[in-house]
Amino acid sequence: MYTKRAILWFRLDLRLHDNEALHEALNSADEVIPVYVFDERTFLGNTHFFGFPKTGKYRAKFIIESVAALRQSLQELGSNLIVRVGKPEEEVFEIAKKARTSWVFCNRERTEEEARVQDALEKNLWSVGQEMRYSRGKLLYYTSDLPFPIQHTPDTFTQFRKEVERYVPVRSPLPAPEKLPPITVALEPGDLPGLPRLGHEAFTPDPRSAAVFQGGEQEGLRRLHYYLWEEGLIDEFRETRDMLLGPDYSTRLSPWLAQGCLSPKMVYYELRKYEEQYGRNKSTYDLFYYLMLRDFLRFMAKKHCNQIFLKAGPANNADPCWRNDTALLQQWIDGRTGVPFIDANMREISLTGYMSNRGRQNVASFLVNDLGVNWQMGAEYFESVLVDYDVASNWGNWNAIAGVGSDPRENRNFNILSQARAYDPKGEYVKHWLPELRGLPPEKVHQPDQLSSSEQEELHLRIGDDYPRAMVSTEKWSS
Ligand SMILES: Cc1cc2nc3c(=O)[nH]c(=O)nc-3n(C[C@H](O)[C@H](O)[C@H](O)COP(=O)(O)OP(=O)(O)OC[C@H]3O[C@@H](n4cnc5c(N)ncnc54)[C@H](O)[C@@H]3O)c2cc1C
Repeated sequence: MYTKRAILWFRLDLRLHDNEALHEALNSADEVIPVYVFDERTFLGNTHFFGFPKTGKYRAKFIIESVAALRQSLQELGSNLIVRVGKPEEEVFEIAKKARTSWVFCNRERTEEEARVQDALEKNLWSVGQEMRYSRGKLLYYTSDLPFPIQHTPDTFTQFRKEVERYVPVRSPLPAPEKLPPITVALEPGDLPGLPRLGHEAFTPDPRSAAVFQGGEQEGLRRLHYYLWEEGLIDEFRETRDMLLGPDYSTRLSPWLAQGCLSPKMVYYELRKYEEQYGRNKSTYDLFYYLMLRDFLRFMAKKHCNQIFLKAGPANNADPCWRNDTALLQQWIDGRTGVPFIDANMREISLTGYMSNRGRQNVASFLVNDLGVNWQMGAEYFESVLVDYDVASNWGNWNAIAGVGSDPRENRNFNILSQARAYDPKGEYVKHWLPELRGLPPEKVHQPDQLSSSEQEELHLRIGDDYPRAMVSTEKWSS
């Protein structure tokens, strides 16, 4: 009998639960060949404007782990994962020709670079009479369930939220399959690349990291279970989300959500189950709120296309004063601005790949509003270094901080000193990442640039030697 074969091309959906493309492939074909390609442009290439490594070591490691875990899960169900390094439009195409498949199923991506790859593959497949079949895998909401066409999506989050949260149901997550058909075509499974193959040396995580992220679906589900069911940390989410030290304040689900190891619908349904058992409160609502914000930014990326990457943004509102100043940028990246709250956050991201939301807002505002550096440089640095980089979330948040986003009320100029005092009142976070400031009392720790010579002598700290002079006087925010 003629065997109908399909390829399931995994991309940013490295999971078996709630994987629509996987479901559709299994419903359409007798045999499904799962494939993952480490796209050499994404792993070994550079960011678009300013040439940072496109995928830094923390994310590369996380993805390798996630792909390894996916392969193991597929093997346990009777299948396997074919792994390649190269260009997906060539590698998947070669497998499609060799296996004489009918279709390639994948969860569709919408931003330009990702769409270009899927378009190129689609074109190649057509040349041999095969088809791409697209599903959706990243969001809470389906475009087709929204009460407006994508081009009419409200440009402000508040409006968007009001129009969807009460009226649009979140569809149930699809279950993971219990068994998979074996791969009968003779295909080289392919070795998983190590970090050096993807351009990085192996490393051990900095011991000061609050959380060490281990890639993979099971790890993501475990973290969700821990946060909700084991520890009930969700009950304090509103109060703790902005705290800076320690692994358990915010959910830390972002790396798994970004690589699709975890489906947002799964998070939502676990949250609803939790609410049914323990009651709804402002904290459980807040997690839903941020998942909606994540969706909103993706819809904005879809609506405004490449404008989210441009200096003037969707608002078409570039500040002529923003400079491409690599020297200022480098001091910011190195955590050597002389403003402790900024430096601590920048050292954390550089040494771990993660930074809290509060930190991200402050360092972004500082770069753009206080140093006058082009926000795109910061966005590309984040793209490179973040373990949880997500194209729409990263660029959308940078748009917002720079005041070029679609939401006109979003221009956010942070008072760094008040933020530091509010969120790090004793300076513990600053001292954690800046050991050179450990001797400073809480009332001085956020303003070492204001220490007199005698105070410096007394505290054994020489500004300009032991810790940099401030690029922006902290007096600026004192009044
Ligand atoms: C300049 C800047 C850049 C950012 N870049 C990214 C990025 O590349 N990837 C990313 O996932 N988030 C990004 N964020 C959003 C946010 O900082 C992170 O999602 C959050 O810190 C991740 O930690 P968490 O999982 O503990 O979040 P929690 O506070 O526990 O939130 C739960 C989930 O909600 C979503 N979420 C929360 N806040 C936001 C937000 N502001 N925008 C979009 N989604 C949100 C995330 O998926 C997150 O995992 C950025 C924010 C800023 C200000």
